[in-house]
Amino acid sequence: METPMFKKLALIGLGLIGSSISHIVRKNNLVENISGAAQSEKTRDIALELGLVDEVHSDPAEAVVDADLVILCVPVGANEAIAERIAPNLAKGAILTDVGSVKRDVINLVQPHVPAGVHFIPGHPIAGTEQSGPEAGFAELFEGRWCILTPEESVDAESIEKLKQFWVGCGSFVDIMDARHHDLVLAITSHLPHLIAYNIVGTADDLETVTQSEVIKYSAGGFRDFTRLAASDPIMWRDVCLHNKDAILEMLGRFSEDLASLQRAVRWSDGDALFDLFTRTRNVRKTIIEAGQDISRPDFGRHNSPE
Ligand code: NAP
Repeated sequence: METPMFKKLALIGLGLIGSSISHIVRKNNLVENISGAAQSEKTRDIALELGLVDEVHSDPAEAVVDADLVILCVPVGANEAIAERIAPNLAKGAILTDVGSVKRDVINLVQPHVPAGVHFIPGHPIAGTEQSGPEAGFAELFEGRWCILTPEESVDAESIEKLKQFWVGCGSFVDIMDARHHDLVLAITSHLPHLIAYNIVGTADDLETVTQSEVIKYSAGGFRDFTRLAASDPIMWRDVCLHNKDAILEMLGRFSEDLASLQRAVRWSDGDALFDLFTRTRNVRKTIIEAGQDISRPDFGRHNSPE
């Protein structure tokens, strides 16, 4: 972009998402300056070393001074205290957004602290990895992925359009959605798969010494893909579960019922039911690949050897 869209971007939280935003906005010249905040000195030092930010602060309130775009990139449960802390320093006319994996609760917790004249537009880039921290980010993370914005009805349309263009500038497609609907959709597409992964890996771990060495040794099977999800950041996923409780419980209920049907099909050797389900699910994967949201290479295009 020839002229940057924003003068000063404040990234509150410099982990996987915050650092990835920094990489892409620098690459595509979307902002003039970046200030950052993180709670640990280690993260702040790394952020400066990597050139993720032009200035870094331990106090997020100092990072947001004069920023016309503020992005909260912290675990969902940390947003409220940060919103309260930065509120007095937010510039009039600034856009305040976040990247949290849950939206309704974040709005309920953050909105009361947003001063008049600041445009709060919650967001969620549907892009991530199981890595975390300031060294985990990369410029291509958002390329070809969806970013969902969930503004309340009263939010200024011009600011929504500007934030939309910002995410387009990061390589994303953008959708506008009701926050509660977002939480329900993500409960099935992201939150439930993570819970299933945490559960299956936890069960295997509980089998302990009897089978543990076999679990590791033969993990090239389906189990290995679950361990990738189950290696995701514990704080982030604890917060997702605590803040999207209703939708997750609803999806877990449906999942348990369907699992019981599958259990019955196995018990009664109902091959037709098994075949029908497995054919239906195979088509879902095909549709995802056709939509450009994954690649069809075996093993998800990953190397076979452990990294
Ligand atoms: P991350 O790599 O763990 O980074 C979190 C950052 O927030 C770190 O810089 C951390 O600082 C800072 N932080 C944590 N607690 C804080 C607190 N109480 N006060 C101030 N700063 C705090 O996490 P991430 O993967 O970037 O995730 C950030 C957000 O993005 C989450 O809300 C998550 O739901 C959302 N998200 C994640 C993914 C994903 O796949 N990871 C995808 C989409 C959206 P220190 O390093 O100093 O501790």
